[in-house]
Amino acid sequence: MNRYPDLLMYIGGAWKSASNGQPVLNPADESVIGEVPTASRSDLDAALAASADGFKVWSRTSPRQRSDIILKAAALMRERIEEIAYSITLEHGKPIGQARLEVIRGCEFFEWDAAEGQRTYGRLIPSEPGIKYIVMHQPIGMVAAFSPWNFPMSQPSRKIAGALAAGCSIIIKAAEETPAGAIHIARAFHDAGLPPGVLNLVFGIPSEISDYLIPQEQTRLIAFTGSTAVGKHLTGLAAQHMKPVLMELGGHAPVIVCDDVDPVAAAISSAVRKSRNAGQVCTSPTRFFVHDSIYETFARTFAEKARSVAIGNGLDPSTEMGPLANSRRIDALEMLVADARAKGARVLAGGERLGSRGYFFPVTVIADLPDDARAMREEPFGPMALINPVSSLDEAIEKANSLPFGLAAYAFTHSASNADRLAEGIEAGNLSINTLEASVAETPFGGVKDSGYGREGGAEGLSHYTVIKNVSHRMSI
Ligand code: NAD
Repeated sequence: MNRYPDLLMYIGGAWKSASNGQPVLNPADESVIGEVPTASRSDLDAALAASADGFKVWSRTSPRQRSDIILKAAALMRERIEEIAYSITLEHGKPIGQARLEVIRGCEFFEWDAAEGQRTYGRLIPSEPGIKYIVMHQPIGMVAAFSPWNFPMSQPSRKIAGALAAGCSIIIKAAEETPAGAIHIARAFHDAGLPPGVLNLVFGIPSEISDYLIPQEQTRLIAFTGSTAVGKHLTGLAAQHMKPVLMELGGHAPVIVCDDVDPVAAAISSAVRKSRNAGQVCTSPTRFFVHDSIYETFARTFAEKARSVAIGNGLDPSTEMGPLANSRRIDALEMLVADARAKGARVLAGGERLGSRGYFFPVTVIADLPDDARAMREEPFGPMALINPVSSLDEAIEKANSLPFGLAAYAFTHSASNADRLAEGIEAGNLSINTLEASVAETPFGGVKDSGYGREGGAEGLSHYTVIKNVSHRMSI
């Protein structure tokens, strides 16, 4: 029988409640499903002390042993997939099938980094006889991490996997609105035999926790996923204390649809992808630039498919899209729709909240938006697709690059020359052609411009969690 877990912090290898808490809501019916603890200053001090002890042990544990423990925890999470997926759907709202896929994706991040942690190779630099120059990669130290609510399990997985695989300890503040995903991760690591203090999980008032942890001498890396505004603020704070950052921030992904593809197939797959996680994904395809010659067919088909998406409680297996995760997203989307309408855009599907209980909002398709429509510049972070015509690939690339964001970008084309121009010209950390998947565990993921700094995953992901030391060793004095 699946049940929502007790909401506790995990500090120094022990579970910890708090005298204060914040309610956690089920976004499908707005009922209270639990209370997440608010860390006190002494909880944070305990986490700092524990993570210092944890780092001493873990950084001197062999990469093979570290990998074994991470893989054991991932195997436990795979065994517990139904229980974890149930918790995710309850607190976030997404369909249960998507919650299961999220658990698998989170496990893949752990499995990939567990292997990469055994390959943080150094270098021996050619030198004159009698001296050796040795480049070592060592764990950076304690990581202060902050993960958001859109993927309650796979977002904290990214950060915990990177830190632990590299030999670091971590204090992670996961999202208060969706705490169970991270709690399940901590439970799996506890059961897998992770030494106390290596992984510490806290909740509370986000700004109070980041303000306290970032300046600490023992904090050596700030890893954050969330909005660009908060990311810039935390980067500023980190700079004052000379701390490096890993920032995965917002996006506003363009999709370029060239005239050599089937507009019906491209529109259907785009509408399905747009509904994933109710569009609350930093890589969600959002600004569609479609060649004039196929524009009307693409827009009409997209709107038809959008209207057919089955919306409901994520625990119902027939649901294709659940509610939005919180009421802030409803307010944001309503404002963007009203602004687009006022500026003359056509709303082809959706546009209004569904019902008054639960945060349901349909897939919303808007066409013919002027460049100054707010939706064209502000990340909707919801199930909203914006479709505009273009007359050439150059125009599409220019429009795609016109925002300060550069996280994911997509294109549909079968032309090798178009693909090459896109690969060279698009300003983004990730470009996907004829697929709307932006990242998998084995590829480096991250942004350029205001979308952030650094990469997670791939062979590059662990580099942020390590520091380089050069040892110059003359054989005799
Ligand atoms: P928000 O900016 O208030 O919060 C985003 C996340 O940052 C939350 O998890 C929050 O707990 C955390 N946070 C906020 N202030 C913090 C601080 N001072 N220190 C540490 N953590 C802090 O916005 P929101 O309403 O929760 O989400 C809306 C926006 O956030 C979206 O428009 C989207 O751009 C962005 N977002 C991005 C991602 C992503 O995957 N990149 C995920 C979730 C949200």
